[in-house]
Amino acid sequence: MHSSARRASWQRTDCPTWCVVNHHDDDHIHDHRHQSEFLEIPVLAVTEGHGGHLGGRDNWNATELVICLQLRDGADHTEVYIGDGMEQRIAVDVPSALRLADNLGSLVRALTASWSRETGVTDQSRPGG
Ligand SMILES: [Zn+2]
Repeated sequence: MHSSARRASWQRTDCPTWCVVNHHDDDHIHDHRHQSEFLEIPVLAVTEGHGGHLGGRDNWNATELVICLQLRDGADHTEVYIGDGMEQRIAVDVPSALRLADNLGSLVRALTASWSRETGVTDQSRPGG
């Protein structure tokens, strides 16, 4: 849990309010970072490089993406991490993450709007306004 009462010996700064990591004096240097809770988002994703596109079909897999905040201790910028927890990842600063979120929303809303025009459905719920 987050605690500002005690810092690990390597900490140059107090934990941000969103940090949920218990830091220890003997943490590996790669772990000298503050991290928020993980939000796990179930997704259906196309995977490549694992024998995908068999017979010309996309290889869709149910998986999870993780988003969280990270801040290397003493660094200037908080990272917004989006990834699969392993190889695939995007780690950007907060203004970039906001631009990504806004543009992703616009892109997908334009697509779903075109679907409703094509199907004549006009009363679809509009999550998020
Ligand atoms: Zn921390």
